[in-house]
Amino acid sequence: MQTNKIIIHDQNCTGCLTCQLICSFTHRKIFNPSEAFIRIQTIDHTKKISFTSECNNCGLCAKYCLYKALERVEE
Ligand code: SF4
Ligand code: SF4
Repeated sequence: MQTNKIIIHDQNCTGCLTCQLICSFTHRKIFNPSEAFIRIQTIDHTKKISFTSECNNCGLCAKYCLYKALERVEE
């Protein structure tokens, strides 16, 4: 079975939160960044991206990230 791996490029993240909105809408049926399975933190003025244990690697967040901060690789 083909699965996705999401490679993170923190340095490209603008904090736009598009990834969180598409994730929460798709998987929780609500537009709410805090309900997403991807986290965007700001630490010392830089972004830090991480995934919760609920992330299923669907790849949608990477597809909709316009800034190349998330890269989907099919395995
Ligand atoms: S990872 Fe991409 S979509 Fe998500 S906040 Fe950063 S720039 Fe926006
Ligand atoms: S890969 Fe899918 S489930 Fe995981 S954070 Fe991205 S959109 Fe959400």
